[in-house]
Amino acid sequence: DRGRVVVVGGGFGGATAARFLARAGHDVTLVERDASYVTCPFSNTVLGGFARMSDITFGYDGLAAEGVQVVQGEAVGVADGTVTLASGDALPFDRLLLSPGVELRYDALPGYSEDAAQKMPHAWKGGPQTELLRSQLTNMEDGGLVVIAPPANPYRCPPGPYERASLIAHYLSAAKPASKILILDAKEAFSKQALFEEAWATLYPGMIEWIPPSGGGRVAEVDPSTMTVVTDFGRYDAAVANIIPPQRAASIAQVAGVADQTGWCPVSGLTFESDLVPGIHVIGDACMAGAMPKSAFSANAQAKVAAVAIDALLRGESATSPKLLNTCYSLAAPGYGFTVAGAYGEADGKLFEIEGAGGVSPLDAPESVRSAEADYARSWYATITTEAFA
Ligand code: FAD
Repeated sequence: DRGRVVVVGGGFGGATAARFLARAGHDVTLVERDASYVTCPFSNTVLGGFARMSDITFGYDGLAAEGVQVVQGEAVGVADGTVTLASGDALPFDRLLLSPGVELRYDALPGYSEDAAQKMPHAWKGGPQTELLRSQLTNMEDGGLVVIAPPANPYRCPPGPYERASLIAHYLSAAKPASKILILDAKEAFSKQALFEEAWATLYPGMIEWIPPSGGGRVAEVDPSTMTVVTDFGRYDAAVANIIPPQRAASIAQVAGVADQTGWCPVSGLTFESDLVPGIHVIGDACMAGAMPKSAFSANAQAKVAAVAIDALLRGESATSPKLLNTCYSLAAPGYGFTVAGAYGEADGKLFEIEGAGGVSPLDAPESVRSAEADYARSWYATITTEAFA
């Protein structure tokens, strides 16, 4: 039977799910506020100066051609089986799928705000923020201090800040070699840490310094008017400050009542249906998917599981227990990549990591391994953007 499915959010999760639900024969409406989508994955290659914004920007014509009704608009309400848009339009649904991504918590760091982000960009959403950070880097004088301040877990893309430090170093080491990058971290350890530290020592000796909270690295306050970053132990005058605040599920998740007090959305690992509101499914960064990290790879994998489950439920059948994969690729330079991978199963509605099925790239690997992994990263990006947007 054809069902009416509304999908909110045309990012990696929503675009993929809309496509697979349309292919299954359902009546699918995709609501997305923007006319085009700028990916966060590979946005660090723009910051590194070896890709352009146009390389990471995608439209929705491909989805429309597959029969998805693409509506550009802002979803502002969810009640009684209907999504309301800011325009006033109402979209009734049999099942609603939310993949709205994250909202930045501007209230979480004294001195930081939406306005402050115009001077100290987070660049944690693709688009104007990416361009702002890139232009600050290109305008910076040689010898300047670039501060990167990553948040505590959980947040969108655990290895992202460290890939960013690497690719900014790639740019600076050629263009402004007297500059320094200081990572002021809110956590004691980070994803693929040993691999990043090995890459930094090999590729950019002396350029990148990482300070965890125990070393005084936790950022307590920022002042965008003076470009000062204040930590527990000191003050830094930044030429460029990339402040990445803590996050939570985007606001439509709160509006729909599917986010809990953590700010994220508890869901069934079998169907990605909300634990809080029946009939609403949540995938991607907004949901809590056990040990799966908040990545585009995860959002895309969850989209396919949720689409198959929604199709089954609309046909009056039950969902079958899924297996999901995630791989996070990171580039430390254009020809230097490495990965962390995981596999996940479901039991009693909970997702668990399958022991021994994942792992990280080896340390001390030959250059050929690093360059092959950089090629895999580019192939992965081409594949996932084709599956979501082409
Ligand atoms: P999103 O992709 O954010 O999509 C959400 C969409 O919903 C947006 O387009 C938004 O406009 C729309 N929306 C939200 N609310 C509404 C509303 N009310 N009405 C209408 N539209 C709405 N992941 C990887 O797997 N590999 C990587 O290499 C990688 N690199 C990254 C690098 C950086 C610097 C960053 C920041 C992230 C990176 N990620 C990477 C993570 C990846 O970007 C996210 O995990 C992924 O985008 C999550 O997809 P999503 O569908 O949950 O949300």
